[in-house]
Amino acid sequence: MMFDYDFFVIGAGSGGVRASRMAASYGAKVGLCEDYRVGGTCVIRGCVPKKLFVYASEFKGHFSDAAGYGWHHDGVRFNWPELVRAKDKEIDRLNGLYLNTLKNHNVEVIEARGRLVDRHTIELRGAEGTTTVTADKILIATGARPQLPDIPGIEHAITSNEAFHLEELPDRIAVVGGGYIAVEFAGIFNGLGVKTSLLYRGEQILRGFDREIRDKLNMEMCKKGVEVRVETNVTAIEKTDRGLSLKLTDGSVLEVGAVMYATGRVPNVENLGLEELGVATKPNGAIIVDEEYRTNIDNIFAVGDVIDRVQLTPVAIKEGAALAATQFNKTPTRVDYDYIPTAIFSQPPIGTVGYGEEEAREKFGEDIEVYRSEFRAMKYVLPGREERSLMKLIVQKSTDKVIGAHMIGPDAAEIIQGVAIALKCGATKAQFDSTVAVHPSSAEEFVLMK
Ligand code: NDP
Repeated sequence: MMFDYDFFVIGAGSGGVRASRMAASYGAKVGLCEDYRVGGTCVIRGCVPKKLFVYASEFKGHFSDAAGYGWHHDGVRFNWPELVRAKDKEIDRLNGLYLNTLKNHNVEVIEARGRLVDRHTIELRGAEGTTTVTADKILIATGARPQLPDIPGIEHAITSNEAFHLEELPDRIAVVGGGYIAVEFAGIFNGLGVKTSLLYRGEQILRGFDREIRDKLNMEMCKKGVEVRVETNVTAIEKTDRGLSLKLTDGSVLEVGAVMYATGRVPNVENLGLEELGVATKPNGAIIVDEEYRTNIDNIFAVGDVIDRVQLTPVAIKEGAALAATQFNKTPTRVDYDYIPTAIFSQPPIGTVGYGEEEAREKFGEDIEVYRSEFRAMKYVLPGREERSLMKLIVQKSTDKVIGAHMIGPDAAEIIQGVAIALKCGATKAQFDSTVAVHPSSAEEFVLMK
């Protein structure tokens, strides 16, 4: 049977773009539909603009540190619309790069919303009308979107999507949640001069991460001026003349100019024709796939946030690449989900890979050793900044293998990438110790812990 395409991809985010580009490079005829812009959450309203905002918000600290090095300035001012415009310009540039790459690889990009009609047919609804195309293999890479709890007044809340386009910054904001996005945005708003409260329902932010790192982040954020309130949630939001009034679980009321929810993300599976076709999903909507990213319908695949395995861009990219290699290059490829490093661009930032202390203790009992180093980063000494870094190694005693590495402090994201290679290779503590230190640096602490 002849199809219009060998491979058709719905969704041009990290996973979809990588899979389509690689499949085309292996000789497949590839089509890709996207109803917004190419690049997905990461490029358009996630990792990339977030990191630009983090950079912007760190200048406040840099300016106050500068005097410690003899630099004086006669007042600085911050212009939010200028930052938003500069960020938008960069996103436009990246969008163009993505489109060019796809074009250069002969991937046909169609601006339309895709919906499965049958196992080989996709309906494409775009500005120019509705058409259908057929494909031998189909990939769903539609990502995820913010999830908000159902409480009175939730329509007044924003998510990170809207935070990237605010016309003006509020004087005061509450960020709800205690995960990646919440702590990152609390740092951004605080650094940009917004009085910021972080409201988290649990007893400590960043559930699932190493406990000491979580405690440290809470403490350092408070020192920087963020009001971190744990065991606190919002029960209702009311619009008032002055802004928003948040009713909190402890009975108090918090008046803010805006409230941003960062309470997790849910897979985008609506209106894709999945139910009609019988594509199996989990209760939260995530598409169920096997090791080759195949759904229960054997020519339909899914990767990235829509399968909700690990909601990280580099993981979606690896999944897309593995799928393309397996299906179109006769090279069965599996993604290895062990020792995935990750960074949280909080202030201070966190870099982490492998087991946290508590998780390691649960799995290996007494068979672990914990090494830690806490210090003030050299660059903060002259300015007198009282921020301290913390680094930890978790080692399995019986094998001497390093099974966890964690850092909170300047450059943690940059440092953890290299350490992750060592963990992935199964490096032992003895091998860490025999590595010559890079001096003077913070990173050297990872090879000097006794
Ligand atoms: P997370 O899953 O990281 O955190 C969600 C937070 O919201 C948790 O603290 C959770 O609390 C809380 N929460 C959930 N439901 C409610 C509710 N009904 N009321 C109050 N609080 C609630 O999600 P994020 O939205 O922060 O991020 C989504 C994903 O995006 C992350 O999992 C991450 O993989 C990815 N991401 C990665 C980044 C990076 O690599 N730097 C940056 C940003 C996002 P509890 O702990 O109690 O469940």
